[in-house]
Amino acid sequence: MELLRSHLSRVRIPEPTNRIYKEECCISFDSPKSEGGLFVDMNTFIAFGKDFVVWNYEKTRNPVYLHIRETQVLPSEDRPSKKPTRLAIGLEGGFDNSEPKYEQSYQLVILPDFVTLPFPSVELPEKVRLAVDAVILNVSAEKKEQVASWTADSKVISKHAMQLEQLENGIIISPSGWKCEKCDKTDNLWLNLTDGSILCGRKNWDGSGGNDHAVNHYMQTGYPLAVKLGTITADLDAADVFSYEEDEAVLDPLLAQHLQHFGIDFSSLQK
Ligand SMILES: [Zn+2]
Ligand SMILES: [Zn+2]
Repeated sequence: MELLRSHLSRVRIPEPTNRIYKEECCISFDSPKSEGGLFVDMNTFIAFGKDFVVWNYEKTRNPVYLHIRETQVLPSEDRPSKKPTRLAIGLEGGFDNSEPKYEQSYQLVILPDFVTLPFPSVELPEKVRLAVDAVILNVSAEKKEQVASWTADSKVISKHAMQLEQLENGIIISPSGWKCEKCDKTDNLWLNLTDGSILCGRKNWDGSGGNDHAVNHYMQTGYPLAVKLGTITADLDAADVFSYEEDEAVLDPLLAQHLQHFGIDFSSLQK
């Protein structure tokens, strides 16, 4: 418990705008039903299977995780499963095709030593209890994305987001007063998340828009992700992130971290 207290500053209580991933590892296909369960980073609310949680810890140093496991509830003894009497699945007398039932169990896990603490427990610090309750009760980001994918404007997580290279070039982005590094454009500007370059967007068919400097920079460097300046607010999901390599608007679950690399504190920005 002392160990957990020493890491309290790394635990966040999710806000309504935060996406909470808790159904599938962002890298593998592990889920709470997998053998090792699923680990939700209590700072970023991104989920990892047991093969990737250490990788995330080494990358982010976030030590506190909610470990979620789902185990199948076996039919109780007093209600033996009847043998099907007909090959009529789901019909009277046929196979019972109701979904198998699962039971969730939770514990807190602290890396790097995988120290476990039971949840629920009255001994947990208030902040941790509130944070875990919110993670458990909120609709998962996966479900929200599923719903979003049924509508027209669906965005998927960029395959480059989780392992994006960011150069340690000391570049700090000012909160305003931006200009393209290659021309005089001051609007329609894109911040490349690998090297922090600020360059203008694409030229439109009618000659309006930018001068293609951002997309040309990608052609030269291969740095795949850029965020449109002016779209970064406290609601990071609403930010315009574009993947040149995937040629579409994408989600970057680590956007906060990627912006912090260039000195941008998104939480101070207003909508
Ligand atoms: Zn330009
Ligand atoms: Zn850095």
